[in-house]
Amino acid sequence: MKSAFIYTPKYHLYDYGPGHPMKTVRLRLCYELLDAFNIFQNPDVMLIEPLTAKREDVLLFHNEDYINALEHQDTDRDNSSYSYGIGYGDNPGFKGVYEWSMLSAGASVRAAEIVSTAAAGTAFNIAGGLHHAMPQRASGFCYINDPAVAICTLLKQGKRVAYIDIDAHHGDGVQHAFYNTNKVLTISLHESGEFLFPGTGFVEETGEGEGTGYSVNLPFYPGTGDSVFVWGFEEVVPPLIEAYKPDVIVTQLGVDTMASDPLAHLRLTTEGFCSMIERMRSFGIPWAALGGGGYNITTVARAWTLALGIISGIDIPDEIPETCLDSLKRHGLEGSSLRDREKELCDDPAARRWAEDKVRYIQEKVFPFYGI
Ligand SMILES: [Zn+2]
Repeated sequence: MKSAFIYTPKYHLYDYGPGHPMKTVRLRLCYELLDAFNIFQNPDVMLIEPLTAKREDVLLFHNEDYINALEHQDTDRDNSSYSYGIGYGDNPGFKGVYEWSMLSAGASVRAAEIVSTAAAGTAFNIAGGLHHAMPQRASGFCYINDPAVAICTLLKQGKRVAYIDIDAHHGDGVQHAFYNTNKVLTISLHESGEFLFPGTGFVEETGEGEGTGYSVNLPFYPGTGDSVFVWGFEEVVPPLIEAYKPDVIVTQLGVDTMASDPLAHLRLTTEGFCSMIERMRSFGIPWAALGGGGYNITTVARAWTLALGIISGIDIPDEIPETCLDSLKRHGLEGSSLRDREKELCDDPAARRWAEDKVRYIQEKVFPFYGI
């Protein structure tokens, strides 16, 4: 089965502004690194341009007054966009913010369409995964919640969807979208909301009404590294996916979980990250993969290059090609290795005990909904 990589150089037109941790240049670096490895020469990898999202698609999740405010925020003189969380703090009203957000969302809708029509078995939109945006509010660098929008378009086609989010931050916007329904299973693994934005995603949040048991949260202690995080993933995610039997999986592959990330406090390496991507691939289910957080930009480029390799079933060598090395070094890369050198970073006993506690809760309170 082929895989699709969704990408456009138009991403480089947009800039959150100096000093903002979200750098769109990371998308270009990732594309250039993949290109340096000749991934796009492989006949099984399709390079596909995204289309801007349709308004009707984003309105499946967002409120119209919010989308209007986002569209007109740069000409808005009465500052009403402030009440929508746009224009200050984490969510600057930068030039083209509406176009950027609609392009990122359109890329995720494209990824969902590609896998739901079996044009490819997997599709990866590195510009997506903006999981914090709420129906009526921008949040956490996210203006349009492309995972929620993509899942809504799949639901319209009658698909049963499971969403797996391994970003360091809780996938709160996506959980909110489907908290009351059993049509979507959302699973988020993240650093605990006790220590990190957005302050939600506790293990006790399991859904409401018909959705009870269909929101799953596995929070981790700061400092958690590969072995505990991957252990938690293995304990929770595969049994739920096998029991739920989704038609499509949508995954948010944020890499702010990495030890090198400046915003969160987890200690993963590319080895732990890749083992989870391999497990996702092993499900053999049509798969729309989305990007997400990641604020060490050369780590982002390396991790998502490895991810596309796994998604596409292509072995990528470890030595970064000369053609790309200078550019990555200018952006802070040390060494010339695609994979992290450290195999295991800091899995202290407190982090393990914490994770064991949360996993036990899920197994006792959530698994019974699935007859596990
Ligand atoms: Zn994040």
